[in-house]
Amino acid sequence: MKAQLNILPLKNWLKFYEPPLIISGPCSAESEEQLLNTAKEISRLTNVKIFRVGIWKPRTRPDYFEGVGNIGLEWLKVVKDETGMKTAVEVANSRHVEDCLEHGVDILWIGARTVVNPFSIQEISEVLKGVDIPVMVKNPVNPDLELWIGALERINFVGIKKLIAVHRGFYFFEKSPFRNAPMWEVPIELKRIFPELPVIVDPSHICGNKELLLQISQKALDLEMDGLMIETHINPEIALTDAKQQITPAELKDLISKLIIRNESDNIEFENKLEELRAKIDEVDYELINILAKRLELVKQIGEYKRNSNITILQLKRWRNVIQDRLKKGVEKGLNKKFLIDLFELVHEESIRLQNEIMNK
Ligand code: PEP
Ligand code: MN
Repeated sequence: MKAQLNILPLKNWLKFYEPPLIISGPCSAESEEQLLNTAKEISRLTNVKIFRVGIWKPRTRPDYFEGVGNIGLEWLKVVKDETGMKTAVEVANSRHVEDCLEHGVDILWIGARTVVNPFSIQEISEVLKGVDIPVMVKNPVNPDLELWIGALERINFVGIKKLIAVHRGFYFFEKSPFRNAPMWEVPIELKRIFPELPVIVDPSHICGNKELLLQISQKALDLEMDGLMIETHINPEIALTDAKQQITPAELKDLISKLIIRNESDNIEFENKLEELRAKIDEVDYELINILAKRLELVKQIGEYKRNSNITILQLKRWRNVIQDRLKKGVEKGLNKKFLIDLFELVHEESIRLQNEIMNK
């Protein structure tokens, strides 16, 4: 099946959109006060106009805090009224979707644990049929691009054109500094397949801590991702979920101020410089080809001379000297020894092949 999505560009449906899109808010709603205080602080930042929050939390063990449930949707109405921010909530089944729609939630998102299950995605898609609401689809926990695309397709096929993919990193069995390995090649490939699909990055769930947040956020922007979703909490230390990775609204402000947003003119300058360097490489490569041809021509002449003088092709002593000399010269020039050995072995092999041809003429 040919991958195709029918997508509306962000700027067509988010009137305030100015890249990068920044979405922020707590991992979980815990109390009306926590929600409102966090939202009020965030809403002061000019670049943050969407407030995210988990109302139902997918937890590993049943005795962990599983979210406040529907009461949180009531609190969110207050957040919206008082701050004017748009609200975004995670949904994992059809009942969540219905409750969010009833409570005027502006944007839905589907979490990494739900995206792994096509039954859940299908169930969610069916209640979204005919509904005009933006949906964000996180990547599945495992690095399976097809599964991610499948979820985007199921949601898109029921008529949701306001779609955003969220890259939140992948489960990785080896030890890594990240909670979820970024594996940037996956979202890059997604963007290559669907150039019109906005892809934002969730550095909070990639990092699992505060320390790496800026680095990953900057990397996301440098890779031309369309925005960031960052978890904030008015008092992260006492957060009931993801306490280690949430930052305060003040820390968010600081992070945003440190981001380097490269504009198009930087890109043009960069492209020009790149073109200039590539043209030089082309020239050097042609020179290299000429030099190789010259060398092999000399090899042929020696071959003919050897044949006429009845001398064997392979003269080990000479070859040993050549290799030693070239290694020394190459290393002096900063070239890697293994690379030099491989290169000259290859040249030597071709020289012997040519001289053999001459001998057998
Ligand atoms: C979240 O955003 O709080 C969340 C649960 O994320 P994920 O689905 O990426 O684990
Ligand atoms: Mn979280």
